[in-house]
Amino acid sequence: MSNDIRRTLGTSKMVSQISTPPNSINDVDTVIVGAGFAGMYMLYRLRNLGLTVQILEAGDGVGGTWYWNRYPGARCDTESMFYSYQFSNDLQQEWEWTERYPRQPEILKYANHVADRFDLRRDIIFGTRVISAKWHEKKQIWYIKTSTPNHISAQFCIMATGCLSSPNIPDISGLNEFEGDIFHTGLWPDQHVNFANKSVAILGTGSSGIQVIPEIAKDAKRLYVFQRTANYVVPAHNRPLNSKEVSYIKANYSKIRAKAKQTYSGNIFETGGPSALAVSNEERSREYEERWQMGGLCFMAAYEDLQVSPEANETAAKFIRNKIKEAVNDINVAELLSPKNLFGCKRLCVASGYYETFNRKNVNLIDVSEKSIDCITPNGVSVDSKEFKVDTIVLATGFDAMTGALKKIDITGIGNIKLKEKWQDGPRTYLGLTTTGFPNFFTITGPGSPSVLTNMIPSVEQHVEWVSECVRFMMSRGLKKIVASSSAENGWMEHANDLAEKSLRSTCLSWYLGSNVPGKPRIFMPYIGGVPIYVEKCENVVANGYFGFEMS
Ligand code: NAP
Repeated sequence: MSNDIRRTLGTSKMVSQISTPPNSINDVDTVIVGAGFAGMYMLYRLRNLGLTVQILEAGDGVGGTWYWNRYPGARCDTESMFYSYQFSNDLQQEWEWTERYPRQPEILKYANHVADRFDLRRDIIFGTRVISAKWHEKKQIWYIKTSTPNHISAQFCIMATGCLSSPNIPDISGLNEFEGDIFHTGLWPDQHVNFANKSVAILGTGSSGIQVIPEIAKDAKRLYVFQRTANYVVPAHNRPLNSKEVSYIKANYSKIRAKAKQTYSGNIFETGGPSALAVSNEERSREYEERWQMGGLCFMAAYEDLQVSPEANETAAKFIRNKIKEAVNDINVAELLSPKNLFGCKRLCVASGYYETFNRKNVNLIDVSEKSIDCITPNGVSVDSKEFKVDTIVLATGFDAMTGALKKIDITGIGNIKLKEKWQDGPRTYLGLTTTGFPNFFTITGPGSPSVLTNMIPSVEQHVEWVSECVRFMMSRGLKKIVASSSAENGWMEHANDLAEKSLRSTCLSWYLGSNVPGKPRIFMPYIGGVPIYVEKCENVVANGYFGFEMS
């Protein structure tokens, strides 16, 4: 079967369900791009202010990242009771999560429940991709063109396009000529994909790869895992939630949520102390072991200097490397799986049974760290002139993170300035919410905000509430236009970059830095100062009369 990568990675079923909206130009107060958790809550808030709002969504359903990432094993690694909205107490009381970490279908069900419960669908047009957004200075309005004949004009344009929503398809020669099936984890079809009796190649061992690998290994005849960089993977220890803990959390939700907002990542992780080097070896090992047994991302919070001191970092790295040796039977495979880079510099991965999967007879780990993949042949993957014949290729190769979805849209601001051009040396924002030269334009969890370093849904809520309060403020004073000043943006970028330079996280090749996408400028994109400091800065801007913004 001849196989075109563009066709294979297309979501044929989803596209076929799309109905074409009428050929029209609608005027609304606000256009929101994207119907994930950010877009839905933004719609809810602005509608409550009395604004007319239209969401444009490329998929045929709500859920954003959880709509597209349907790969086997897809699961959130933030705990379900907290990876959920808190804006409605009724909602958080009535919704029943079943497991400690929610599976993708359960999160999607939750997103659909939210859409129905708050009657959001009537203001969402599905199957409509935004192609361009152009600011008209005279009319003080955004014109939005879409993939359908439906074009829209609006006073405000809000990008709720997600941080990890633009799939990164590697530029490997021959990919188009592969004769089997190719799937990207971030564009997974909504039909069952059958791996039984198939030989499968997986490229990528990040958070998506480490979740999908154990699942495919169970079904496939042979699984080749092509690993370029070994990652640190901590166990999830996922389990069903019990009614006692659920009742406790529900009874104390506001207290627990408030406490989470005081932590660096917006998660209720207690720190084990200021420095891994200030305690004895025994105490440190006990701390790491407790966190390993607890499971999940709390390992990151073990000591406050893990991302500052290479020596402290090495203690955590060593602990995990030892765990890998214990889990993996073949010493050479264990060595290959052991990360050489700093702990937590790339996003820490959370999985169930990842390392043990390499003890299966049907799984082979192929190191492509030094000799990269030569090419994809019609029948497989070639490395160092050796062909691995496969029926299916799974690309778990990640995303053009944080800026990819925005740069795909032709966005034009004041004086015909293009966002793509303005950001050619990396994204520049004020607070990660706005960018100079683009009036009435907001980015929810945009680059320059803590976003991907935090529990995403509370961060989404904080941004949505900031934007809706800003819009309310403007309405109450008859103001029509808001734009960040250059000096405010320059100040924010300087501050954000200064902080990033102090962290070990900005020293390795990761998608935080854009280094996973060839040609992408290297700049640490998320704000690394932590949730409490960031929120305080956002609140100070408001308290000081929207300091750094020009309003008219
Ligand atoms: P990722 O972390 O960027 O991992 C991509 C993987 O593909 C890396 O191992 C990368 O190797 C490899 N790769 C890319 N191009 C390659 C090539 N040409 N040849 C060989 N290998 C190649 O992407 P991801 O796993 O999709 O995760 C992205 C982020 O999404 C995560 O960090 C996380 O924030 C989020 N996520 C969360 C969950 C969850 O909640 N459980 C699940 C999935 C994703 P290199 O490392 O060498 O570049």
